Amino acid sequence: MFSRAGSHGARSTIWKAALASIALGGAAYYYNEHSRSHGILDNGRYIPLKVHSQCQVTHDTWKLRLELKKKPRSFPVPSSVYIKDDSIQIMRPYTPINDPSVDGHIDLLVKRYEQGSISKMLCRSKPGEDVFVRGPMVEFEYPTAAYKHVAMIAGGTGITPMYQLIRHILSDPKECQTKMTLIYANKTEQDILLRNELADLEKQHPDRLDIHYTLDHPSDQWRGDHGYVSLDMVRKHLPVPSTNGAPNTDIFVFVSGPEAMLRHVSGDRARDWSQGKVQGLLKMMGYDENQVWKF
Ligand SMILES: Cc1cc2nc3c(=O)[nH]c(=O)nc-3n(C[C@H](O)[C@H](O)[C@H](O)COP(=O)(O)OP(=O)(O)OC[C@H]3O[C@@H](n4cnc5c(N)ncnc54)[C@H](O)[C@@H]3O)c2cc1C
Repeated sequence: MFSRAGSHGARSTIWKAALASIALGGAAYYYNEHSRSHGILDNGRYIPLKVHSQCQVTHDTWKLRLELKKKPRSFPVPSSVYIKDDSIQIMRPYTPINDPSVDGHIDLLVKRYEQGSISKMLCRSKPGEDVFVRGPMVEFEYPTAAYKHVAMIAGGTGITPMYQLIRHILSDPKECQTKMTLIYANKTEQDILLRNELADLEKQHPDRLDIHYTLDHPSDQWRGDHGYVSLDMVRKHLPVPSTNGAPNTDIFVFVSGPEAMLRHVSGDRARDWSQGKVQGLLKMMGYDENQVWKF
């Protein structure tokens, strides 16, 4: 009886020790994996990146720099990163405004929505805190030097993928023949993002980059367009979609911005998040599904 009880006690001690060592091993593995992957971007899973710095650039927009331990080998354009709120398991895409494979960090411009989840979390994050990031995520593979004219229509923070594309096209020698036109819509002059950066690029490449601003609420001194993006603006600034009745395959239009703007300019994306039909102003102009991409 005694000896049986003794062997039972010994067995249970062995079991406890085994379980403890498995738990310790698991914790050590998790810790190693976590610290090994920390700071190294991965498009298969969320990785913690440290907020390096954060500053407010307009009344509702912040710039964030996220640290990378290792430069990614390349960072395709256009592409974005997904950021996750670990506590409520939701994620949203954001588009770096720099080239992380050159700089070794990720710069984001994030507009804060009062009722928002991820945008609010990002705009109140502090240096040293971790943000869970996955990427780069590529939805559209931009074909190098395939177009003679790339047109872009952006609203608000919808400028970020366009800025990525503009910088990429201007810096790629194979794209030296590509012209670009951007129509950029905002509520007020104070809402215009990357204005100095865009002005510099336009000054450096006056024959290749043409930017037109429009404001919902312009001041008396404003010299650009007024109101929402209109058929007149699109007719005036964008290339014609067809020649002799055939679609012009040398031109392509990107649209990026708030849902209401997308609906008005190009039609919504479909419910399954595929591109859906081209509608709105671009349809009126005669553009088809092979000439338009909605971010
Ligand atoms: C490909 C892609 C790239 C993007 N890149 C950027 C970027 O670089 N910078 C950036 O700030 N955002 C970017 N966005 C938008 C971003 O992904 C989020 O949708 C946005 O930050 C709101 O997320 P949230 O979780 O804070 O708000 P949610 O919880 O999704 O929404 C909260 C409230 O805000 C409203 N809302 C959400 N988004 C918008 C909007 N765009 N316009 C008007 N009202 C809105 C909703 O209707 C809701 O009332 C991008 C979106 C896409 C699809």
